[in-house]
Amino acid sequence: MGGTRTRIVIFGSTGSIGRAAAEIAAADPGRFEVTGLCAGRNAQELRAQLSSFPVARWSLRDETAARELEGLDGGLARRSAGVGMDGIAALLADPVPDLVINALVGIAGLEPTVRALEAGCPVALANKESLVAGGDIIERIPGASGRILPVDSEHFSLARCMSGHRGETERIVLTASGGPLRGRAPEDLARASVAEVLDHPTWRMGRKVTVDSALLLNKGLEVIEAHRLFGFPYEAIDVVIHPQSLVHGFVRLRDGSMLAHLGPADMRLPLMSAMYHPEMPEFPWGSLTFEELASLEFHPFVPGQYPAFELAMAAARAGGTAPAVLNAADETAVEAFLAGRIGFLTIIDWIEEALEAHDARDAVTVEAVHAADRWARELLAGRHPEATTP
Ligand code: NDP
Repeated sequence: MGGTRTRIVIFGSTGSIGRAAAEIAAADPGRFEVTGLCAGRNAQELRAQLSSFPVARWSLRDETAARELEGLDGGLARRSAGVGMDGIAALLADPVPDLVINALVGIAGLEPTVRALEAGCPVALANKESLVAGGDIIERIPGASGRILPVDSEHFSLARCMSGHRGETERIVLTASGGPLRGRAPEDLARASVAEVLDHPTWRMGRKVTVDSALLLNKGLEVIEAHRLFGFPYEAIDVVIHPQSLVHGFVRLRDGSMLAHLGPADMRLPLMSAMYHPEMPEFPWGSLTFEELASLEFHPFVPGQYPAFELAMAAARAGGTAPAVLNAADETAVEAFLAGRIGFLTIIDWIEEALEAHDARDAVTVEAVHAADRWARELLAGRHPEATTP
């Protein structure tokens, strides 16, 4: 740690998770010193954040975005760490942070996770795509598993349940709200609008993860993430539908009993846990009430009802580069859906098409994963004009 304060770098600081992390850090300046912020294109938001963290250096995804930020405030040029991966590498090097918060979305998060873990930094990991597409890479980094602090509500909860009980845990269970389209007739889903899909009942999140949640693809990504984080085989990982999103995870112990972790549907809880690790200060945004607990419902999860979930599991079983292809096809299709170029269910068709055409290879280097990612994007672009921005 740098002195008494924890030096942190936030990747994806302008997003839903990144803004929450910045809020927690700004509320406790005696504890946190933010030394770096990295974002994609939102120069306005980054500029506002930089005014709260006077020593933080910054990085944006490309020169165009960087010029926009410097156009807003010329004085910020001297705090630039560079753009793209060069900028990210600089933020990890000088000074070396005590904690990296990776709140990037998509495959863009993989290399920053790998670089941070290779540099020996603990990583508060929201970017689940790092583990989905790059699990084989991360597994090979010495000591990496002990340095990842999960910032996904289910995985945070499972880690809490297993604390002191790992040896007796036989199965783990992730809860799923079912998303905004739960209960809609299959023939209706094809017509789901962008606004309906983005109207998640219990979580306010970025657009990609919200669309993935509506498809239940996100639950598949989370099962892969849980497998990577906790080492359980896929057969020992279950999902249950729980519309209220108050129980986030269960573990089933050898003696047949279960432990559950309940908490508000608020990502600041897993974030605070990771940022203050191993302590946990008081959570200032409220706790659950017994009135809320009275409403808890659980319904069986039937994988066959969710083709996107099944595709995620097929990619997991194929292994190697298949999960990277799943993710790349999903990113491409979600972008096309959000831009109004394809219907909701076409996302599933494109993922299936890419996985069917793919011969999985080893995915033990970032280059191999990026090559598979590019391959899937090019395949879809070649077959579907809607896959590219006109
Ligand atoms: P958002 O879309 O809200 O934010 C994504 C962030 O990544 C933004 O800061 C964006 O920058 C930045 N970004 C995107 N591409 C690049 C790039 N190429 N280079 C640099 N920065 C980039 O996503 P969320 O916060 O919702 O999600 C982040 C991750 O956390 C995802 O992996 C998601 O699955 C996971 N997660 C999110 C939850 C939530 O509640 N939101 C819950 C659990 C997990 P900009 O906006 O400036 O372009």
